[in-house]
Amino acid sequence: MAADSRSPPPQEPCEACGTLKEVVWIDKDSIFKPWGVKPPAWAILGCAPCNERERIDQQAAERKRQIQEMATRLLDQSGIGKRFRNKTFENFTAETQEQKEVLEACKRYAADFGKRPGQCLIMIGAPGTGKTHVASAIINRLTKKGKRCAIVGIPELFRRLKSSYQNNGSAEILEQLIRADLSILDDVGIQMNSDWEFTTMFDVLDARYRDLRSSILISNLSFQRLEELLGKRLVGRLLEDGGLVLTFFWKDRRLSLA
Ligand SMILES: [Zn+2]
Repeated sequence: MAADSRSPPPQEPCEACGTLKEVVWIDKDSIFKPWGVKPPAWAILGCAPCNERERIDQQAAERKRQIQEMATRLLDQSGIGKRFRNKTFENFTAETQEQKEVLEACKRYAADFGKRPGQCLIMIGAPGTGKTHVASAIINRLTKKGKRCAIVGIPELFRRLKSSYQNNGSAEILEQLIRADLSILDDVGIQMNSDWEFTTMFDVLDARYRDLRSSILISNLSFQRLEELLGKRLVGRLLEDGGLVLTFFWKDRRLSLA
């Protein structure tokens, strides 16, 4: 909006916040001359505080969009299954005291991730008690912080490794499991009958231990059986650096819902 010098001085408040809008005088050298205004004249610009707020909002929206994009990419790369992609702490139903404590411990783990490098979790309990759900919620939280996560079920890991060796392919999945900021091995204890299977898993966990990288082990076995399977030494290492054993000792949710 522009007017010539004969008009009264403009005092136009912003419709949104009431601040008087900025006024600029147009002289003969003004950049506003192309508007066709005859100088000297004035023009009312926008509201400075609102413009600033809008600029900050736009920046925040852009930053949010970038974070979402990064999180989606990291989630795609993590190997998380479609079923678990939308699992969050918020949609984990914690009714009993034990469930609430496990949920809190996992939230804290995700919130403090990186403060105790190498901190591991061992999640044990019967199938259907929500272990993979909370582990996926941790991945969801961490990918938003730009952390590279990897999750794989042990049977799938061995199937993929065998097929890549047979095709002379590289063991990309192993590299990913060793290098990720957080690696989650699900269904530990299933299909670990041969030395090769045991050694492979040991090597992954050992390499991560040496690099102070965090791992989460999920198993349907009891803690004692897990110790027998993996060896006290390896389990002991996982529990250094503030490692926690979380027990999911309640009945199968999927059955109780049926
Ligand atoms: Zn305003």
